[in-house]
Amino acid sequence: MSFKPANNIQDLQYFGEFGGVNPSISDSSTYTFLSAKTMFDTFEGNTDGCYLYSRHTSPSNLYLGEALAAMEGTETANVSGSGMGAITPTLLQLCGAGDHIVSSRTIYGGTYAFLKNFTPRMQIQTTFVDITKLDIVEASITKNTKVLYCETVSNPLLEVADIKGLAAIAKKHNLKLVVDNTFSPLSISPAKLGADVVIHSLTKFINGSSDTMGGVVCGTNEFITELKSVIDGASMLLGSSMDSLRSSSILKNMRTLHIRMKQHSKNATYLAHKFEQDGLKTVYPGLASHPSHNLFKSMINEEYGFGGMLTIDVGSLDKANALMELMQERNLGYLAVSLGFYKTLFSAPGTSTSSEIPEEEQIEMGLTDGLIRFSIGLDNDIERSYQMMKDCMIELDIL
Ligand code: PLP
Repeated sequence: MSFKPANNIQDLQYFGEFGGVNPSISDSSTYTFLSAKTMFDTFEGNTDGCYLYSRHTSPSNLYLGEALAAMEGTETANVSGSGMGAITPTLLQLCGAGDHIVSSRTIYGGTYAFLKNFTPRMQIQTTFVDITKLDIVEASITKNTKVLYCETVSNPLLEVADIKGLAAIAKKHNLKLVVDNTFSPLSISPAKLGADVVIHSLTKFINGSSDTMGGVVCGTNEFITELKSVIDGASMLLGSSMDSLRSSSILKNMRTLHIRMKQHSKNATYLAHKFEQDGLKTVYPGLASHPSHNLFKSMINEEYGFGGMLTIDVGSLDKANALMELMQERNLGYLAVSLGFYKTLFSAPGTSTSSEIPEEEQIEMGLTDGLIRFSIGLDNDIERSYQMMKDCMIELDIL
């Protein structure tokens, strides 16, 4: 029998120490040992079930990590204080001086800046490629390449990576395929398609209430243990740990993720079709016009849909700004970066989340000035939201 991802979350059962229906929050940064020998063994990484210090791990962080590993179908997971706090230690654990990364060129601006500007200081070089062209990806691999890096659905252009195809290339060349699945939780399960490591910014859909940062690395027991090693583990030593209070709140929010994702997808699908019918240049993986629509369909866990992210191009930055301001004024959403909130969020990526990418590279990858990225909210009446958005566009001569 095959299980759906949500069933794995559904089947988790944790109790608090007094029988509470939620696990107790471990409100401690450090832990006692009954014997000095056990403390020594724990430092050496030899004592399962003993807690040492909360930067290493805590019971609350383990509960959340287990739920995320169950969702992604990996052996285990390690949560972190932010999405970047998951991405940067993963790449630094896998690569050292002289190593090389082949990365999608359309990725979150912060990850791009890390690979382009920061890791070269450590003699780690990255080649940025069009991830949808598997022949180009393979041709970019050198004898020093250690990692293939991509986002399942890319930020902000919503390009879709062929995870199975990339996994085959990674396997052939003995590389690790690291996939950021922030835009498509539940809809796509990269590890089940062959990714070695799956990362999320929990700040987005998974937590879903825009009240905290968070991240996770999902992978094998071996890799996660390496990341947490007190001797040379990048997560442990760089210190991007999550606080237990936050992990317990994210765990509670995560229980409604499957319901929220269905509603985000339903609303985004409705709007994408309407915008496209109105003649707007609309990008949404659920549209037949999306170049990777069939690829997404071949990877999808169908019931969760094509996700909550879409883009439209309104022709110029001035128009994009005017539209976003008007939509905010009419309470159709917020002019804000980030995604996965109950309210629709919109921003112009060229001047915000992707501004780390130089202008000429933005042009080359098709990131135009008039592009608006939408994270579609959980509106109960999306038909009304659409009508009101359309009115704004008519008023501003966009339609
Ligand atoms: N990955 C993607 C796809 C993102 O959109 C973001 C943030 O916008 C990140 C990673 C970074 O996550 P965080 O802001 O939680 O550090």
